[in-house]
Amino acid sequence: MMGMESMGGEFRLGRPFGIPLTINKLLAGFVAVIFGFAFLSKAPLEGAWILILLVSVLLHEWAHALTARAAGDTVIKVALHLFGGVTYRAGRGGPKADFRITAAGPIVNVLLAAAAWLALRFAGPELPYWASITLDFTFRINALLAGLNLLPIHPMDGGRMARLALSRRVGAGPGARIALGISFATLLSAGVFFAWWGASSPMFVVVIFLLVQMFMLNVMEIRQVGAPSMDETRAVLGRWWRERRERAAERRAERAARSAAPDLEPSPFRRAAAINRDEEVIRDGRKVLEKAADRGLAALSPEDRRLLMLHRRLIEIRVDTSPGNPSPDDLHLLELHVRLGSSAEVH
Ligand SMILES: [Zn+2]
Repeated sequence: MMGMESMGGEFRLGRPFGIPLTINKLLAGFVAVIFGFAFLSKAPLEGAWILILLVSVLLHEWAHALTARAAGDTVIKVALHLFGGVTYRAGRGGPKADFRITAAGPIVNVLLAAAAWLALRFAGPELPYWASITLDFTFRINALLAGLNLLPIHPMDGGRMARLALSRRVGAGPGARIALGISFATLLSAGVFFAWWGASSPMFVVVIFLLVQMFMLNVMEIRQVGAPSMDETRAVLGRWWRERRERAAERRAERAARSAAPDLEPSPFRRAAAINRDEEVIRDGRKVLEKAADRGLAALSPEDRRLLMLHRRLIEIRVDTSPGNPSPDDLHLLELHVRLGSSAEVH
């Protein structure tokens, strides 16, 4: 670690990918002590987890930084703080780009966890001891990082993603307030859960400290976006849901209209095939219908009955969707069908 300059409470670690990288001095000290102690006790593997944690957090931040730069953001620096990394950037892309940039971090952890899991699963027994220990740490640490970061808590990645996703659907103000409400609820549940299950954990004090700090950040966020309220949430989500259903109904109606008017179908081959099949059903179905009118439904083979049902459906569609009055011929055929009760279930 030569050539490191100190800067406030941080060490500068050069400019990988052209982006300044800094590490908190206390964190650097922790890493050095934990790994150094393991190393000096001739058990470097026991200190490997802290290095893997550091590298995993760093890859997470670089994923944010590089996607941000690709989206046209200005990336100012990547900093490793005592309790996690931060990518400082000035955004120019819209909310969609912002969502991708935010998701990139946890995605890297998911990929690392998956890769380590697969390697252990398929090559586990043949691997040397140090490699399987390293993979095991990589899997656990990255699964934990992905899981924690995806919790919908402000200001973590999951909280930011929830806010961006909600804002796109219900507007920026209500979206931010609903996301903040979700964040408070998740934080409180996490607090209750940890107080109940983690009371004997050696990390208890640290986790409670972090939860309280995040709670304070959430309270401060109320000043920016306003307080979340149950009434607003219900009204906004209700409106969104209604609009969504209306749009879905419109799309369904459009699709139905398109299939009733085959001229709008984009693929000429498929259209031709469908028309051919329909014409076949209309032609052959008519013969079967006449046979059934003569000798009764019971005289038909199962195939013929199926054909008859298809025929009836096509005639019904033609009668329902004919632009003017339906043709007398179609009405006559439908009448025959109704009289026969041809749509009865056939197995
Ligand atoms: Zn992140």
